Amino acid sequence: MMREFETKDSNMMIGGVSAPEIAREFGTPVYVVDEARIRENYRKVYEAYSRYMDTRIHYACKANTSLAVLRILEQEGSGIDAVSIGEVRTCLKAGFTPDRIMYTGVNVSNRELREVAETGVMINLDSVSEMERLAEISPGHKVSFRITPNVGSGHSAKVITGSKGAKFGIPLDQVISTYARAKDLGFDIKGIHAHIGSGGQSVEPFMDMVEVLINLTNEIAELGIDLEFIDIGGGIGVPYKPQEEEMDVGEMAMNLTDMILEETDVRTIVLEPGRYIVCDAVVLLATVNDIKDTGVKTYIGTDAGFNTLIRPAMYDSYHHVAIANRMGKACTRKYDVVGPICESGDYIAHDRVLPDPQEGDILAVYNAGAYGFSMSSNYNSRPLCAEVLVNDGQAELIREAESIEEMWRHQIVPKRLQR
Ligand SMILES: *Cc1c(COP(=O)(O)O)cnc(C)c1O
Repeated sequence: MMREFETKDSNMMIGGVSAPEIAREFGTPVYVVDEARIRENYRKVYEAYSRYMDTRIHYACKANTSLAVLRILEQEGSGIDAVSIGEVRTCLKAGFTPDRIMYTGVNVSNRELREVAETGVMINLDSVSEMERLAEISPGHKVSFRITPNVGSGHSAKVITGSKGAKFGIPLDQVISTYARAKDLGFDIKGIHAHIGSGGQSVEPFMDMVEVLINLTNEIAELGIDLEFIDIGGGIGVPYKPQEEEMDVGEMAMNLTDMILEETDVRTIVLEPGRYIVCDAVVLLATVNDIKDTGVKTYIGTDAGFNTLIRPAMYDSYHHVAIANRMGKACTRKYDVVGPICESGDYIAHDRVLPDPQEGDILAVYNAGAYGFSMSSNYNSRPLCAEVLVNDGQAELIREAESIEEMWRHQIVPKRLQR
């Protein structure tokens, strides 16, 4: 089931702090991060797998790269899956040592490959081209390979990554020759990896993918390469709707590890959950600025739009919403929740039954922790918003809202155009 929040005098409570209070103190829009929930989510998935196998969780940090979030996960003992040099360096700054970071890039430049190799992190190679280029740049580097499992899964076609013909990974029929070549090139080959997509809600595609990884692992063993780990990527889904069922992580762990232990000599499993760790740990708060009854629809106009949270506009994603200062109040009619961006595609929620709001109310958007702030933009020249960490009844600013001046800081007006 989707995560519900405690309420106190009709106010939503997050980490022991009143959401309307946070909005008043820090302004809106604001992302509110619940520290305890991040730790809980991390432990749930780690404990599910570590009962059966040596387990390494590599948090896929593109879901949320805030330094405070990374610090929490560093303390928990997590590793990192990073997709860019920017993410690698951000995680190093957050205190992760290079041996806890894996880099999984796609269509990587030689410059980036060199910079990543110099940090000493393991590189999860996505193509034969990248392998050949890394052999020149950093001979003997610690590597694994991302393969295309011809199995896909995800909440939207835009985030399914494992299907046949996908831009990601080594095509299935080239995997064995690629490992043979990597051995000849002298790489330190550690593992095999696949990532089928993001936000899938069923275990079957994971089982199909693991079967593919197992068969490859055994064929690779015949080349005289004993892999240390099988990395099953991320993609564990999260319930976004109130009655939606959760994926059974315990059952998933039991089935997948059982297959690996039965059929291979590999004893370490790596997982790369992003969404699962942070999604329901964060609520986005926005202020109701405007209410408009068009006779066709009634709009709740807030200060958060697709600049702040792009998932509804980009993927048609459902995000649950509530009026954070009218929790538990009777709902009378349907509203559309929309933002301040000048496009009709700018919406947060369609056709939601909500208590009648007033201007100044605080709207809460659930499940905003994954691909929320990290995908936010300056569109319409709106500064990036603040983030607040809540824990044990305390609220602390972890990211200042950007200023308008800061949006100009990298721009140069040629002399001849200056006034
Ligand atoms: C995005 C990504 C993940 C995480 O996906 P989630 O759905 O957030 O768990 C894991 N591994 C790789 C390589 C990714 O690109």
